[in-house]
Amino acid sequence: MPVSRPLASIALVTAVALTGTLPGAPAEAGAAQPGAPGIGDPYYPEDGNGGIDVRHYAIDLTYAFDPAELSGSTTLEIEATSDLSSFDLDFLLPVDAVTVDGVDAAFSKPSEHELQITPATALAKGDVASVRVEYDADPSAVSWENPGDPGGERSWMADEQEVVTANEPHMAPWWFPSNDHPRDKATFDISITTDAGKNVIANGEQVGDPVVVGDQATTHWRMKEPMATYLAFFAAGHFAVRQGTTDGIPWVAAVSKQFGTATRRGYLRLVRRSGPITAWLRSELGPYPFDSTGGLVTPLNAIPYAFALENQSRPTYQGGIDEITEVHELAHQWFGDAVSVRRWKDIWLNEGFASYMEHRWTEDHGGETTRQWLDHDFRDLAGSAGFWRVNVTDPGANVNTELFDTPVYERGALALAALRNRIGKHAFDGLLRDWAAQHRDGSATVGMFEHAAAQAAGHPMDRFFHAWLVADRPPRRTAANGF
Ligand SMILES: [Zn+2]
Repeated sequence: MPVSRPLASIALVTAVALTGTLPGAPAEAGAAQPGAPGIGDPYYPEDGNGGIDVRHYAIDLTYAFDPAELSGSTTLEIEATSDLSSFDLDFLLPVDAVTVDGVDAAFSKPSEHELQITPATALAKGDVASVRVEYDADPSAVSWENPGDPGGERSWMADEQEVVTANEPHMAPWWFPSNDHPRDKATFDISITTDAGKNVIANGEQVGDPVVVGDQATTHWRMKEPMATYLAFFAAGHFAVRQGTTDGIPWVAAVSKQFGTATRRGYLRLVRRSGPITAWLRSELGPYPFDSTGGLVTPLNAIPYAFALENQSRPTYQGGIDEITEVHELAHQWFGDAVSVRRWKDIWLNEGFASYMEHRWTEDHGGETTRQWLDHDFRDLAGSAGFWRVNVTDPGANVNTELFDTPVYERGALALAALRNRIGKHAFDGLLRDWAAQHRDGSATVGMFEHAAAQAAGHPMDRFFHAWLVADRPPRRTAANGF
């Protein structure tokens, strides 16, 4: 059963983050200490953990549809970044057993979201350990109260025929124990056993053919490039699956057979466009960061409007798909997936950039130019006081009303269109390509981008970025602001 976390302990964790104590830093050299329960994210104090760096996840799970049950184990290869008497992982499901390097370890759930593991022998800074967690639960029953969704976040999506684990900013704690923060990326093996005859799709490339035993089949996918935990996914169900290669980029397209035949055909045609769209983005942004692309379309959707998520190498489209949304999710492969947010408040680096690329696509395919879009959209929005009150560099933690609020996308994209006008197309294109290359497989902050832009411009850009991202009123219509 979910347990509400006491408010007092949330306040305590927040205070640790604000006072700047390094998570997991030992009080005295040589003394093994418990790792901090959070990595220090200002929005989500429990996300991630101190004292560990996960290198690899080997997820090996069985999913039963009726009754719904997820069971098996996840094995993490972790490196201790401080001397640890115990450490936390982020996980909402009840746990059956934990071993560290094959030896039984003590474990507890000090709060709903935290799994605290005490190995038989303390870990020294630099130690690499294999941590195996066994569990068996129905994730659909779990809701989690956190600053992003005080009413209780529910990320699990499944019906009697299909399951898709895709959500943001939190998905992993519903299906595998992790260091759940985009700052700590790792490689993944995802093996899912379910009814033979169903398809299993996940990130990266499939390893061999499914292994069938009786009426069950195990399908193994591998993501070889570092991946943030919220971008890891699997889907199981009856899917129409097509594969191919476009301009040297392999793709996997999957559409749920729960859609009617005509709808499914239309969606398949669209999701097969992942190949050419990825190739176009590569021509704009530089090398594609992963080994394959594609997408998956499902009718499962937790919200009453179409939703899509940039799952690494294979975005998911919930409730439907259209071309411009594909451009957005595939642009995230560079902005969000390869270059991740250092803190969730840096979300502009994901959403503003992916939204800008939608307009760049339109411009390059015979539609209005980004300059025309900037002019008319700015005119339309100039009188919308609420729109300009959102500080795009710090929109707030609430996932329903703040983190993904419209201005994060639209004001964020307008800022980039204006930046392109201000510093020139050549410098701007180079800035985006250099940004994607320099921070690939890592994470970055808004401040780091502003610094890179000032360097590309050859002069300070503080006033420009303040006007476009922070000020509580529209930027003045000046050449300095990119008009
Ligand atoms: Zn997006």
